[in-house]
Amino acid sequence: MNVAVSTNFVIAPPAVVAVPVRGLAARFPVRRIYCVGRNYAAHAIEMGSDPNREPPFFFQKNPDNLVLGGADFPYPPQSKNVHHEIEMVVAIGKGGRDIPLARALDHVYGYALGLDMTRRDLQEDCKKGGRPWEIGKAFEHSAPMTDIVPASEVGHPDHGEIWLKVNGELRQKGDLNQLIWKVPEMIAYLSAAFELQGGDLIFSGTPSGVAAIKRGDVMEGHCEGIGRLVAKVG
Ligand code: MN
Repeated sequence: MNVAVSTNFVIAPPAVVAVPVRGLAARFPVRRIYCVGRNYAAHAIEMGSDPNREPPFFFQKNPDNLVLGGADFPYPPQSKNVHHEIEMVVAIGKGGRDIPLARALDHVYGYALGLDMTRRDLQEDCKKGGRPWEIGKAFEHSAPMTDIVPASEVGHPDHGEIWLKVNGELRQKGDLNQLIWKVPEMIAYLSAAFELQGGDLIFSGTPSGVAAIKRGDVMEGHCEGIGRLVAKVG
């Protein structure tokens, strides 16, 4: 790695963002956050895409966009249409390049549940203009997530209900067995394009039912075997 390591900085270095791990005092340090787009057929259709024709695609959020420990999600500036996207999150424990499908799960440390919060109006403007999605996706506090559950405890879930309620009302519902690109495929595909490293997170895509939230709403997500996420819109 061609990264200069120093303990002598001209300004204070940013803190390492670190996610709690269920049952452990040690935390999971975050390096990069990859997000898969349109990875459930019903969501691809609701966004106006053909789920059968598109290869997987990825965008990134920033480690310091995470909201941890059940903190509120502050309603972001510059948007009048902020959407929830509940997603299973894959935490990479061991990096690599060109990771073969059959070995991909060996690279997973654990799993969590996250929200890919989206300024949909700004994202739609980006799509229309053929511009990158960052302003719609990678804003402050845009990625609430739960503690990580180690794979040594939960295994590698390939099915199980995932849902999101807002103020007690069911908005999104799917099953992990509906993922178009499965976890090993995401890892194989990503590691062919980038070098994965321990500390990377992959938000695996959202089931259908994405919709707007407003200040005061309480989002409650659930994923079988992985846990429960609660985030109030501040
Ligand atoms: Mn998403």
